[in-house]
Amino acid sequence: MKRQLLAFLAALTMFSSCGILSGTSLDPAALATAAGTAMTALTISDEQIAQLSAESVAYMDSVNVVEKGNYDKRLRRLLKNVSTINGIPINVKVYKTSEVNAFACGDGSIRVYSGLMDVMDDAELIAVIGHEIGHVVHQDTKNAMKKTYLGYAARQALGATGTLLGNLSASVLGDIAQSYLSAQFSQKQEFAADEAGFEFAIMQGYSPYSMYNSLVKLMKLSNSNGQIPSAAQTAFSSHPATEERAARMKAAAESYGKTTK
Ligand SMILES: [Zn+2]
Repeated sequence: MKRQLLAFLAALTMFSSCGILSGTSLDPAALATAAGTAMTALTISDEQIAQLSAESVAYMDSVNVVEKGNYDKRLRRLLKNVSTINGIPINVKVYKTSEVNAFACGDGSIRVYSGLMDVMDDAELIAVIGHEIGHVVHQDTKNAMKKTYLGYAARQALGATGTLLGNLSASVLGDIAQSYLSAQFSQKQEFAADEAGFEFAIMQGYSPYSMYNSLVKLMKLSNSNGQIPSAAQTAFSSHPATEERAARMKAAAESYGKTTK
């Protein structure tokens, strides 16, 4: 799978850099390739998306320190009753870093940063993971990747004038990882992901206030420490959007309590 994709990316690179560029005139072969890339992106299959997901997560694994001690044990304990996302078996890893972040991907990957685990209790952590899984289930992650891939296709056309990126495959995989790691999802998408986190926490036996508490905690963190906030903190903490999200989750928790008593 990996080899196929790398070969695919290498083929794209080869076409743009095979030495037939001259001056500023456009190279028809490279333009044709760019058009081909755009076509592929527009019709990109679930299988290809899964392949890009696996490749970009493998890239993330290679540039982060994977923790295999107590953090990893805690995360596996928390997710012991979760086996699949959209029918795809999950694979779980902790990145050892002070960054407060987490992401999930369509290939079943769940990656949680130890910085997030340091500040969240189990219930809040489960809610945040449920939120990230929500983005995958609602296809937000897939669409973000697709958009990045289209952007890449457009840059391939620039390549025809002689402007080429250095290490193309690593760069593309990094960009794709960034697209779901720091995706600027819409308020509507975040609301829906919060609802997924809310449900997920309850399903795993935690309080209906878990999602609300995690949002409140992230807001406080981003307001208090004066550090440059991570992508997740930014995504979770942009006022007044997060206040509104927290209010929604509080209301959901309150009404859940009423209906179950
Ligand atoms: Zn989100």
